[in-house]
Amino acid sequence: MPFRTGLKSFEYDHPDHGVADFKRAVANKLIYAVGKDPAAAKAEDWLHAAQLAIRDQLVERWMATTRAQYEQDVKRVYYLSMEFLIGRTFTNAMLAVEQYENMRLALADFGVDLAKLGELEPDAALGNGGLGRLAACFLDSMATLAVPGFGYGIRYEYGMFRQQIQGGQQIETPDYWLAHGYPWEFQRPEVVWRVRFGGHVESRTDFGSANWVDTHDVLAMAYDSIIPGYGTEATNTLRLWSARATEEIDLSAFNRGSYREAVERKNLSENVSRVLYPDDSTESGRELRLHQEYFFCSASVQDMLHRYLRTHDNFDKVSEKISIHLNDTHPVLAVPEMMRLMLDEHHLDWDTAWGHCQRIFSYTNHTLMHEALETWPVQMMGRVLPRHLQIIFDINAKFMLTIADEHKHDTELMRRLSLIDESGDRRVRMAYLAVLVSHSVNGVSALHSDLMVQSIFADFAKVFPNRFNNKTNGVTPRRWLAQANPPLTALLDQRLGRGWRRDLSQLEALKPMAAQPAFAAAFGRAKRQNKQRLAAWVKQHMDLELNVDALFDVQVKRIHEYKRQLLNLLHVVARYQDILEHPDADHVPRVVIFAGKAASAYAMAKLVIRLINDVATVINQDARVAGKLQVVFMPNYSVSLAEIIIPAADLSEQISTAGTEASGTGNMKLALNGALTIGTLDGANVEMSQSVGLDNIFIFGQTTPEVEALRQSGYQPRSFYNANARLKKALDAIRDGAFSHGEPARYQQIFASLVEWGDKYMLLADFASYLQTQARVDALYRQPEEWIRKAILNVAGMGPFSSDRTIAEYADEIWHSKPVLLKPRQTAP
Ligand SMILES: *Cc1c(COP(=O)(O)O)cnc(C)c1O
Repeated sequence: MPFRTGLKSFEYDHPDHGVADFKRAVANKLIYAVGKDPAAAKAEDWLHAAQLAIRDQLVERWMATTRAQYEQDVKRVYYLSMEFLIGRTFTNAMLAVEQYENMRLALADFGVDLAKLGELEPDAALGNGGLGRLAACFLDSMATLAVPGFGYGIRYEYGMFRQQIQGGQQIETPDYWLAHGYPWEFQRPEVVWRVRFGGHVESRTDFGSANWVDTHDVLAMAYDSIIPGYGTEATNTLRLWSARATEEIDLSAFNRGSYREAVERKNLSENVSRVLYPDDSTESGRELRLHQEYFFCSASVQDMLHRYLRTHDNFDKVSEKISIHLNDTHPVLAVPEMMRLMLDEHHLDWDTAWGHCQRIFSYTNHTLMHEALETWPVQMMGRVLPRHLQIIFDINAKFMLTIADEHKHDTELMRRLSLIDESGDRRVRMAYLAVLVSHSVNGVSALHSDLMVQSIFADFAKVFPNRFNNKTNGVTPRRWLAQANPPLTALLDQRLGRGWRRDLSQLEALKPMAAQPAFAAAFGRAKRQNKQRLAAWVKQHMDLELNVDALFDVQVKRIHEYKRQLLNLLHVVARYQDILEHPDADHVPRVVIFAGKAASAYAMAKLVIRLINDVATVINQDARVAGKLQVVFMPNYSVSLAEIIIPAADLSEQISTAGTEASGTGNMKLALNGALTIGTLDGANVEMSQSVGLDNIFIFGQTTPEVEALRQSGYQPRSFYNANARLKKALDAIRDGAFSHGEPARYQQIFASLVEWGDKYMLLADFASYLQTQARVDALYRQPEEWIRKAILNVAGMGPFSSDRTIAEYADEIWHSKPVLLKPRQTAP
């Protein structure tokens, strides 16, 4: 056992959690950990002290969970992800241990406002968007279900950039989130793995071991964060790796008098964990990205094998004790790394090692878009990771032999299935490697999983028909309802009890309440409070007064052409023109809210942000539409901003071209908070429409097969432009500079991409249907009781979209893992 026994005299102070205990704890932390005189303490100091006091509440549970995992020799699940978009932790941790109220009262006695303190905490934004946020929801659910789950990733010094809007345009500034330290992590300077790059390979035997030599090395140092489960003792670990130079500085260079050169080498090594790549949907050709991927895979695999070998003396049970899940293809280098360690370091034979890998690995695909499928030039991989390239070639050689055997030397099939794309410069197809090794490959919504086996993995699905499955995404109800939406949470607690936090299917009990006037009125009041909270934010940060009686129409997500923010904007412009044309008609007032970041190199997405802001400026200054239409672009979309926007939404825009959004999770968060969805039959919208009922959702536009058929028949966007007067008028206004006075050509490109360059995402084909459906939205909003009834039925139908349901399915059907059993907690003696 890796634990020492016989420390009988070891004692420590068990942290209690009454109001008086918290006062004492915060005071002690302020004095002894933060080192501040209370008379001089700033808000950040109080925050820091309170965070440490809450962290103490988690540490015993954390240690008990780790011990129980060893004692029960559980199967551990390692979730490998390049991104974890965590957001803030303080409030989440207080809610997890049910200590928000006691901490609030304790701080109030010191004259400190807990709610205000919480807003000072920076977001941990180690991710770009949906993929990273999914990983964060999964960590929350794994802990809550007591799945022995570990997150592994990179401790980027600079996470997602901070977005500012200047003159209507996105400006990216670095987000140094560690400036005040990160109190939720524990540095583990003793947990360090050597990660090697470059060099060359010697004494290789066929499908056997080899010597990889002359490498240049970087160290990976562990930082552990505590992941609390809700309503359980189980407490998991997120281990993030930080790059360190192997030697602090190059002494020989230093002695020659070249300080700059001496420090340079150190800086180069440590660049590996410096910054998050600013895009989650296009492959970046940068070699540093390949270094990052291998860096965290290598450290993670070394770490987990080491943990396994502490309690096992051979590899016989390795696949019963380790499950590795690949969140997209970014961590797929863990596969050749596992093979390398088993072959070269532990001297297993090829077939044994590969057999272990096939039982250990599983993979989630997140996109079907061709440009987002990761491939690496063979030439670059051979330079950076020569041993791994050999192993990938060997894996491929064995695979091609089997295919030749079983499919009558069908060379065309072999060419299509090969891990190496031989057309043009040779490239390694990372998704194919992931599919080949994994015993399970899943998509993230029913539609996406179907399309996956019909399109990018069609050949693999024929060869390995049982490997593919679906696990529809979900979101954690702790953050996205209990934390983000206090008014609705209070109402639900009063009517349903508190059990929905751990069992979201309990929301179904709201169905009969949708028709009760008293409940509907209370629901309406909760929504209004959330709208007022959002309006206060906009007033404070943007100096704009929102009409809270208006319908809040919300589209918040990464800015990307496939998500079609421009379709939304075309409706806004058409609506504006309609109000000007018919000033005396009875228009339903709307506030149209956008938020989202564009990848720094994605010029078209940045132009869309600028157009949204320009349209907002014109409309918000036009007295003729005052009270009827407002447009807001809220800067710096992030988890903590999402927590303010989402509870305030009446309408959720989920309007991607059918067949392009793998699942979406923003759609789920918004419906869970009582927004009605206007959406296409794309991603998880399909399943949401079944769950909430087609009467309670606004579905519009072409279906996936219709999109495909139109594309096949030769789509002509100009014919839609010419045929629809309102569409033409809106597009012409954009083209002619109605929103860019002084620079009429500013948006020519947007006009051209839609009308002249093929309209890749078919906005114009869906415009008429979208406009008609928006008119139905207006009609319903005129009947507030009906609107609220449907909003309640949306909340009631969201039970299946908890990430707890998703994780239970992964645990049962993919990982075959069992919850760790924990003794009831020992209380203070
Ligand atoms: C949920 C979430 C996303 C994903 O939103 P989609 O609408 O599914 O693209 C992106 N960013 C943040 C901050 C989120 O919370």
